[in-house]
Amino acid sequence: MKSIDILIIGAGISGATLAERYASLGKKVLVLEKRDHIAGNCYDFINENGILVSKYGAHLFHTNDEDVWEYVNRFGSWYPWEHKVVARVDDKTVSIPVNITTVNTLFDENISTEEEMKNWLDKNRVVYEPAKNGEEAVLNRVGPVLYEKMFKHYTKKQWDKYPAELHASVLERIPVRTNYDDRYFSDKHQALPKGGYTKIFEKMLDHPNITVLLNTDYFDVKDQYSGYEKLFYTGPVDRFFEFKEQLTEKLEYRSINFITEHLDQEYYQENSVVNYPGQEVDFTRIVEYKHFGDQKSDKTTIVKEFTVDQGEPYYPVPNEKNQLIYEKYKEKADALKDVYFVGRLANYKYFNMDQAFKNALDLFAELEAENLQEYETAKVI
Ligand SMILES: Cc1cc2nc3c(=O)[nH]c(=O)nc-3n(C[C@H](O)[C@H](O)[C@H](O)COP(=O)(O)OP(=O)(O)OC[C@H]3O[C@@H](n4cnc5c(N)ncnc54)[C@H](O)[C@@H]3O)c2cc1C
Repeated sequence: MKSIDILIIGAGISGATLAERYASLGKKVLVLEKRDHIAGNCYDFINENGILVSKYGAHLFHTNDEDVWEYVNRFGSWYPWEHKVVARVDDKTVSIPVNITTVNTLFDENISTEEEMKNWLDKNRVVYEPAKNGEEAVLNRVGPVLYEKMFKHYTKKQWDKYPAELHASVLERIPVRTNYDDRYFSDKHQALPKGGYTKIFEKMLDHPNITVLLNTDYFDVKDQYSGYEKLFYTGPVDRFFEFKEQLTEKLEYRSINFITEHLDQEYYQENSVVNYPGQEVDFTRIVEYKHFGDQKSDKTTIVKEFTVDQGEPYYPVPNEKNQLIYEKYKEKADALKDVYFVGRLANYKYFNMDQAFKNALDLFAELEAENLQEYETAKVI
């Protein structure tokens, strides 16, 4: 067995960032990844129609963090992409987030200024301050008519829970615009990597100090590895402990069934993502990948997303019960020496990609502050 300094479980954003950073310090890094590919949930590939598709759902990069933006640009070029989402509601097509056009289209209103839109929201909203759950949070922002049409059933499809059964925080920050802005995000940097995310990860992990073993579940091989300085674990926190602790309560996760269809036509829908917030279909959205980067092909590929209970864990379910279970695991995790729990599954928290990069970069900087200083001094000398 080769000697290693750093053992990393998972080759997603968190694992790849730590691997790249430690390798740059001269450490020997081993990354174990249970899937047959790197890039975690950002993994994408060119399919049989010649279209770049994401295996685990469309991933749109957006950030206001200059350090993260500088970091991701080290590993490839990015092109500007302002994501837009539309929704089919009552046979109409409206913008998401809710904006002036959404309200005018759904309710035959004639709003034209920000002030009128604010008045409409004020007239409709039901004040709950503070909101005790997700339902109150939405009613507080937009009122019952939009709640019913756009949020209630979508939330049930997404979480298998109605908004009233979820933390207020899950829906508190639903974006609502009082203008015509129909961009899904408003961050300063919104972009997609030229050639896809997987290429970015290939570049990050392409270092003589980094070895990546695919198709390798850490729990099948962990006895083979010891003597490392630090272990970074980016898998589900409950899985780490269920083999040796008495904490048998499992955390809840939501997964997604991605149902792909290849169609012999140029386009299926007018936009990359069309959401279906109503009860008329079981899926939450349809993604047509060729819209991203205006890809060309005679055919098209669409993916319907059904959120389900069983399968790969994608989304932690944020409610009181799970938070209490997670806290027990966190206590155990914090007590371990030289073992660090990083990323969305290990922290049982949904992170956007930029937050995942930032958390990993911050952890590295925190743990290696001293070494980094010595390293910088050595470089200057
Ligand atoms: C459907 C979906 C859509 C999303 N869309 C966006 C978006 O548009 N914009 C955005 O900013 N963010 C988006 N995200 C969030 C984004 O995917 C995450 O921020 C990011 O993937 C987090 O990286 P990570 O390294 O923490 O986790 P992951 O990418 O999940 O990586 C963890 C890796 O660890 C591996 N692993 C787990 N257990 C083991 C084990 N026992 N042994 C070996 N390997 C193991 C897993 O196979 C996985 O590859 C989306 C997430 C989902 C689920």
